Amino acid sequence: MSSATKTVRGRIVAGIAMACAATTVLAGCGSGTSTGADGKPQVEILVVTTADTMAPEKMAWTKELTAACDCHIKWSQVMNNAWNNQKSPMLASGSVPDISIAAFDPSDADKVPVFEDLSQHMDQLPSVAKFFKEQPDAKKLVQTPSGGVYVLPSSRGKQYHGSGQHMLINKTWLDKLGLEIPKTWDELEQVLEAFKTQDPNGNGKADEIPMNIKKFDTSGFGPSWYNTFLLLNSLGIVTHFNSGPSQQGIYVKDGKVGNFMATEEFKTVVKYLNKLMGEGLIPSTALTKDDSKYNAELSSDGKTAITGVAFAYAATDFGDLADQYVAMPAPAGPGMSADDVTWDGSVETTMFQNNKLAVRAGDENMDAVLKIVNKLYDPEVSVQQFYGSTPDYLAKKDDKTYELTQKAIDSDARVGLGGESSAGWIPDDVTVGNVDYLTSFREADDVYAEQYKHFDLTKDTMPDYVRPSDTDSTTISNNDTQMFDYAMPVISRWIVSGGVDGEFDDFVSKLRTLGMDDTVALWQKWYDKYTK
Ligand code: MG
Repeated sequence: MSSATKTVRGRIVAGIAMACAATTVLAGCGSGTSTGADGKPQVEILVVTTADTMAPEKMAWTKELTAACDCHIKWSQVMNNAWNNQKSPMLASGSVPDISIAAFDPSDADKVPVFEDLSQHMDQLPSVAKFFKEQPDAKKLVQTPSGGVYVLPSSRGKQYHGSGQHMLINKTWLDKLGLEIPKTWDELEQVLEAFKTQDPNGNGKADEIPMNIKKFDTSGFGPSWYNTFLLLNSLGIVTHFNSGPSQQGIYVKDGKVGNFMATEEFKTVVKYLNKLMGEGLIPSTALTKDDSKYNAELSSDGKTAITGVAFAYAATDFGDLADQYVAMPAPAGPGMSADDVTWDGSVETTMFQNNKLAVRAGDENMDAVLKIVNKLYDPEVSVQQFYGSTPDYLAKKDDKTYELTQKAIDSDARVGLGGESSAGWIPDDVTVGNVDYLTSFREADDVYAEQYKHFDLTKDTMPDYVRPSDTDSTTISNNDTQMFDYAMPVISRWIVSGGVDGEFDDFVSKLRTLGMDDTVALWQKWYDKYTK
């Protein structure tokens, strides 16, 4: 889901131990020998990683954990694709490792009472306590309504503050045609028209795709990214498309929850897209095109660009043509002041993750376990955990500044646990340089700094930490399924063939009969509970 997924390396490292998961039904993790021959505690840590991640015991920073706990650590590394099949049986067995990293999320802990409530150990976890004080929203991501903390979150730091979804434009084409980055929908339309008719790629063919949009998911405006309804931000409706119910139309404005499919703004975006498609500025086949083709069109043949404007992660999505592209702020929709235009509010989703560390309830070596947990969240250990050990893979410039070394960049294997698998906290003032995907992310996202200021993260988005109960989640999910089975084909048809004006009221009425208002009321209830 995050930018880190853009860094997956090609090489698969086979033969990593899966000792813990494989033995769940036999001895069970963590319930074997809890003391070594020398009388020191023995602690098992399960960590779920990508296939190309180096074995944790070979990472130098893990020695600091051993020193801190004065214990023996046995690592079990499970590949993330294998873990999907192992998680449920392990939970069902009731036997979990002393410490699990990147394995369980708070909803798992809600279902099965096998994890320790870490909120009662905060005096032994000063690093975690400090993390929670500095990042209260990260704590809220995992806290139960009664204040329990069964799974710890992570933060990758301020460098990751931002949406993963951006609007990119071919700046080389703009420069060639003597055009500026469009600031309104009208200007965008004019630019697209020029892209279509003036052969900006200079090959003598009218092969340009002025604007490309992605096929819709059947379940709404996610889970796959780069949905064209990011354009709602042009009209001041803040999307949150990296995660959460915004993908099913839920939005918040001044603390009031609604579904944007029932708004005039939604209708306005549909009409605009229909107009652009009618003028040949968006391909008429866009909504039936495979994602692989969309992506191929971004990078083209690596020599001659064919895409003018597209929603993507960053310029790097355009491959060898990356230098031609820049992110552009959302252009203002009709009648909108530039001061009210927003951008996708998924800014903390990229920073924080909620599923990072759980401890077995009543662990016999709890003191040693807590010492390990506290060390993991020590910022100096955290940064190495995420990126690789100092000094080999990470150069420490000063207390707050690090850089990946050439050795880290050249390594075939991941030398740290990365964003997906690290249980740690990188404070906001710590920066890591030389990280290619971070550089391209910042280049794209910094363009939206002003538009991020035009809304309040709590009042104008559904925060990630708002979690409906299991029962309400089921109701919401059933309603969503019914609504989107109906809605997505209709929305696609409107964009391709028009008709939204005449049909919109009936569309909204139909969504009401399929549960839209109930779903909005449930989200409002949980929003109020978590934010007030
Ligand atoms: Mg051409």
